Parts: sequence; structure tokens; C-alpha cells
Amino acid sequence: MKLSELDPRWWSVDMSRRGQGIHFLCPTCRIERIGVAFNNPIDGGAPAPGCKFYWTRAGESFDDLTLDPSINAAAVGHWHGFIKSGETIGNEHACILSVQSGEVIDITGKVSR
Ligand SMILES: [Zn+2]
Repeated sequence: MKLSELDPRWWSVDMSRRGQGIHFLCPTCRIERIGVAFNNPIDGGAPAPGCKFYWTRAGESFDDLTLDPSINAAAVGHWHGFIKSGETIGNEHACILSVQSGEVIDITGKVSR
């Protein structure tokens, strides 16, 4: 799946900065957004302070972005995979959230993986 299909957006802690990280729709559920911070922001400045983890970025557009290491949101019931050259690579079909009557229900414990 292309990253560009997941409504990606750059984020930064203040308006004077550009591209301290990215957030995008979870490829698995397409409901929640997954966000990460970069070691090496696009504008060449310092990383966003206070993040627990940082990813090393290559590429400056949603179409050529590569991040290292993988992004693992599986512990909170979401996607685990890589972004390489603007593509998401991972287990996109193991959806472990269910939407019923407008409510998102965590069914993590009910599916075999
Ligand atoms: Zn998800």
C-alpha cells in the first residue's frame, strides 16, 4: 500500500519547524493515526524533544520516504511494518479492531495471529 493513500501529514512541535515527524492512518484499521518522530527532521534542525523513540528518515516526500527501524504499534492493537520508498510493508490484513454500530471494539484477544 502506498503511504500517500493513508492521508500522511508531516508534524512539528512549532510552526517555525518542518518535518520533525509524520503521522498517517494505521494501514491495518485505517481509523487511528500512527505518528513517529524523526532523528533527522526534514528541515535539518533538532529532533522534537521528549519522544520515547526516534526513527531515521530517508527521503523528503511521502512518495520516497523510508524509515528505520520498523514501526510497531501491535502492542496497542495496530499495525506493525516498514515504510520503504513510500510504501507500507507489513501485515496490513490482520485487522484486530472491529467497528460495530459506530464503536471501535478491540478484538485483539479473539483472533489468531
Ligand atoms: Zn490500526
